[in-house]
Order: sequence, then structure tokens, then C-alpha cells
Amino acid sequence: MKILIVGTGYVGTTTGLIFCEMGHRVTGLDLDECKIQALQAGKLHFYEPGLGDLLTKHAAAQNIYFTKRTKEAVEENDVIFICVGTPQNSDGGADLSYVKNVAEAIGKYMNNYKIIVTKSTVPVGTAELVTNWIKKSQEDLIPFDVVSNPEFLREGSAVQDALNPDRIVIGATSEKARSIMKELYKDFHCPIVETNPKASEMIKYAANSFLAMKISFINELARLCDELNINVNDVSRGIGLDQRIGPLFLRAGMGYGGSCFPKDVNALIQTAKENGQPLSILESVVKVNAEQPLYLMEKIKDALGGNLKNKTIGVFGVAFKANTDDTRESASLKLIEHLLAEEAEIRAHDPIVKMEKEHQFRTIEETVTGADAVVICTDWDEYKNLDWASLKSLMKQTYLFDFCNMVDKEKVKSIGFQYMGVANH
Ligand code: NAD
Repeated sequence: MKILIVGTGYVGTTTGLIFCEMGHRVTGLDLDECKIQALQAGKLHFYEPGLGDLLTKHAAAQNIYFTKRTKEAVEENDVIFICVGTPQNSDGGADLSYVKNVAEAIGKYMNNYKIIVTKSTVPVGTAELVTNWIKKSQEDLIPFDVVSNPEFLREGSAVQDALNPDRIVIGATSEKARSIMKELYKDFHCPIVETNPKASEMIKYAANSFLAMKISFINELARLCDELNINVNDVSRGIGLDQRIGPLFLRAGMGYGGSCFPKDVNALIQTAKENGQPLSILESVVKVNAEQPLYLMEKIKDALGGNLKNKTIGVFGVAFKANTDDTRESASLKLIEHLLAEEAEIRAHDPIVKMEKEHQFRTIEETVTGADAVVICTDWDEYKNLDWASLKSLMKQTYLFDFCNMVDKEKVKSIGFQYMGVANH
């Protein structure tokens, strides 16, 4: 089947290459010249473990090609996946302008029956909107179907997630489209949830909101554990082993970030408001998450004597989580903002992310030199087993804030660090 992927970002590029793995021919379309040039040259324009190898393999086998030419791309392909961004609007809802532009282009250039699949995360009712946008831009009435097929991959493990999904959700109204979609996914060994587009759209938002809720739940509980001198990691393990709860997304830390959870939770809250059925649990999830970096900054401030002016803080990790270069809504950047507002001096490090020169240091040693404190913000493997004794000798004071609860606290304490995690007692 000939597949067109519109939007060659994290989701589009991964989806396209996974379909190549399944034996399909794929075209990747993007309006961003730089991204297309990089992909045409066989280079990823973002960091994602394992994806570069797939690109090399399928570009060499000519299973995938990348273009900026919308008309030809639409004409030549049968199934069109919309994978463009759906950022947050000023009211918290999803900005559908990129999706609308794509739908209008498809309507304009469509030459025969197509299936248009929304893989972007879009609010309930968007399949209907896409249908109307396409119809309005058509010169001749050519039949088509719109299907909702949300994506659940995680940056940092996108290849594995996309190759081995927990489930595939197909929201379709026509039998023809449903059976073509099932054919497309026939080699994936997981349950397929067949439903209508509205339920499919809701599933994606409900999944992300539920995971964000787990994170805010454990982070708020960690604050109480702090007061009561309880190790929140033990609590996470103790409840996570209950199969009804599950162990994932129960690690206390900096709070959720990234390009999906923050905007998706807000978009669902907005949908709920618009429909007169507010989701008060999710409103609390957002509140707790927004407070978390500030709560942790206050911990640093208290430990350092109540004033951060001219204190030097080494920050380990600015990506919103390990194994990605994505800093969108990164809790680390929010903490840095709070620290800068307190007039602290920041020396930041990240193995992959490039940030402003004045704050970023190339090596871990340079980052901690003269620091009053080190704060671990992203759980990169690099930070797990550092030679803390030699790092200590470079620091001015020896405060270590492990906001990922990832280092061996007894060991660093025995070296002479004043250690503080997130309720890691
Ligand atoms: P991204 O910003 O990395 O990529 C989007 C791409 O679309 C960009 O390269 C942009 O240039 C391109 N684009 C915009 N308008 C276009 C147009 N008219 N024609 C062609 N290309 C166009 O975004 P992403 O992180 O890949 O996310 C895409 C969607 O998938 C979003 O709705 C997101 O919520 C959802 N999603 C993301 C993830 C994730 O982990 N990143 C996971 C699941 C779902």
C-alpha cells in the first residue's frame, strides 16, 4: 500500500519508517525545507535512539522518500496519515490550524479515493471537521474516508513503542476504511480497538490524562511523605505491585513535561468545559504539576540558607526526560527559570540538548566547578554512576538535589554530600 505521511516530526518520521519495516512504500511530506533536506540526506533532525538506523536502511532500499511537493505526494498515495503538530491555543484547547491546512491541501489535490488518517492528537469531533474541510476544498466530488488512529509512542523509545504497541485504535465510520486500516496493521501483534472516530479521539486524551494523573498523584503524595519522613519510592513500589494500579508513571520527581501531556491534559479540560462537564480531577493534576518545580526550588533555597542570590547551581539534564532532545515544557527548564528569578547562577549540562551558550557546559566536571549545589533534573543514564568523590572536590559546597531519585544516596552521603531527593528518605 502506498502511504503518505504528512509532517515528518517525531511521530511522522517514526510512523513512516515503521510502515517501511512492515513492507510498505512511504512518502514523507513536510513544508520545512531544513527537515526535508536533512531526511533526504539520510539524517534525522531530532534525537531518537534506533531511528537513524531504520532511516539509513529504508532510504538505501528506496522504501521511503521525502518531499516538499504536496500536490504530487497527495496524488500518488492511497492512505494519507496526518502527523502535524497540534500545539496548545491560548485558551488551553488544541490549535488545529496545521491539521486544517493539510485537510484543505488534500481536498484540493485529491485525484481518487483516499483514506485520510488523523494520527496527530486531536480533540473529539476533529474527524468530522477534517471531513468538512476536505469537502469544501474539493473541486470535484471524489469519495474519501476519514479515520482516527491515534499514536501512543513515547519519545526516547519510539521505535520499540511503534513496533510493539499495547494496542492499535481505529476509529472509522466506513467498513471499507476500517478493513484497509486493519490490513495495514495486520503484522502487529496486539489487540485492535475498533470504534468510531469520536471515541478513538477520546481514548488518546484519556490515556495521556490518566498517566499525567498518576504522576501528579505520586508527586503530591511525595510532599506529604516529606513531612512524615516516609520514603515515597517504597510507597510507589508497594502500591505499584498491585496489578490494579501498575508500577509505571509512579516515580516521584520533577513533574510531567514534554510535547504531549501538558497540552493534552489542558485540551481535554477545555473540551470538558465547552461541553458543560468540567473535569475537576484533571484541573488538580495540572495545578500539582505546575507547583512541583517551585516546590522543589523552595527545597533548594531552604537548604542553602534561604537565599539563592549569587549561589551557583549545577543542573544535570534539561531534556524533559532521558533519551530525547525534546525540551518542550521541560520541568528542568521551569526549575531553571525559578532559580534564575532568585538570581542564582546556572551551569547546566545535558548529553544531547543544546541550549544557550552562557548557561551550558560541555562536561560534567565543568558544570560542577565552583557550584554550591548540583540538581539532577533528567534521568539520563550518564548521571547514575558518576565519580561523586572527584566531582565533590570541584564544588564550593556539597549539596546534591536528586530530583530523579536515581543516585545511591547512602554512597553519596558517605562521601560527604548533603543529599536530598524527592521524599527519598
Ligand atoms: P513535530 O512538531 O515534531 O512534527 C510536526 C511536523 O509537521 C513538523 O515537521 C512540521 O513542519 C510539519 N507540518 C506542519 N504543517 C504541515 C503541513 N501543512 N504540511 C506538511 N508538514 C507540516 O510534532 P510531533 O511531536 O511529531 O507530534 C505530531 C502530533 O502527534 C501531535 O499532535 C502530537 O500531540 C502527537 N503525538 C506526539 C507524540 C510525541 O511523543 N511527540 C506522541 C504521540 C502523539
